[in-house]
Amino acid sequence: MSELVELADQLYLFDLYEQGEIGRSSAYLYNGAKKTLIETGSALSLPHILDSLTRLNLAPEDLDYVIVTHIHLDHAGGAGKLAELAKKATFVAHPRAARHLIDPSRLIQGATQVYGATLPTLFGDILPVPESQVMIREDGETIDIGDRKLVFYDTPGHAKHHFVIHDPEIKGVFSGDSLGIRYVDSLTGWGTELVLPSTSPTDFDPEGVAFTVDKIRRLGIDTVFHTHFGPSPAEEAFVGTLEGALTFKNLADRTFVITSDWESIQQALRQHIHDRLRGMGVTPSESLAEMAVDLELNAKGLLVYEEKKARQG
Ligand SMILES: [Zn+2]
Repeated sequence: MSELVELADQLYLFDLYEQGEIGRSSAYLYNGAKKTLIETGSALSLPHILDSLTRLNLAPEDLDYVIVTHIHLDHAGGAGKLAELAKKATFVAHPRAARHLIDPSRLIQGATQVYGATLPTLFGDILPVPESQVMIREDGETIDIGDRKLVFYDTPGHAKHHFVIHDPEIKGVFSGDSLGIRYVDSLTGWGTELVLPSTSPTDFDPEGVAFTVDKIRRLGIDTVFHTHFGPSPAEEAFVGTLEGALTFKNLADRTFVITSDWESIQQALRQHIHDRLRGMGVTPSESLAEMAVDLELNAKGLLVYEEKKARQG
């Protein structure tokens, strides 16, 4: 069962145990005047949300806002399932994400192509959120959660339907996947932490990443709250994401000249991360299985990027 970590006054982090893994996906909960959850994870994470609410003497009906950074299933797949219980909550989404919350059929179709029959086992039920409960926030718009305002910023690079949530009070942003993934020891056993970008299909765009890092850097924040996993000092997240995206892109560029299969790109990424970890005194596993499925997803996303670029000439 999930431990609640108090990050700041009335702000908590808990583990969503994505794919049953510890230290993979976090959710954030504001327990101020308006109860606000950031990220639902997949429907399989619902018991951990309910448990965390109970620990704060809250019920799902008490939730005022549920915010999802983007529509990928490990972030928002469980929104509809939660909406069945959180009847008073407003679900806040990026302009390009909202319609997929209301009607997830295209999302399910796309995910079925990737995951096949294992989709329900991996992510549970993907249900619609009633349209009356969905609110769109454009770039720069806010919501008032009682004791503070949260500001939303469009952040391309990882996905075109991605925003981050800025809390000026604590000088932090909740970054989803747009400012990298923090690989923590509880997931990897590396004994150290490392921020790497997520280049998963199908929107990865290195120029978008650079734009996003620059845009968020200008906010003058101290902390980046990743979904995967927990807080990073902001500059560490910026540098890890920016340099990582450039390195991953260059590796994919070089590999794509020789061959266009994702496995070769995956091998190049694995070699690079192995070398990097060894340079930090860490001995990772041969397959890098401790990075969960990310190595495969990153390679597949980089291949999509290379193919798009090739088509455009
Ligand atoms: Zn993710």
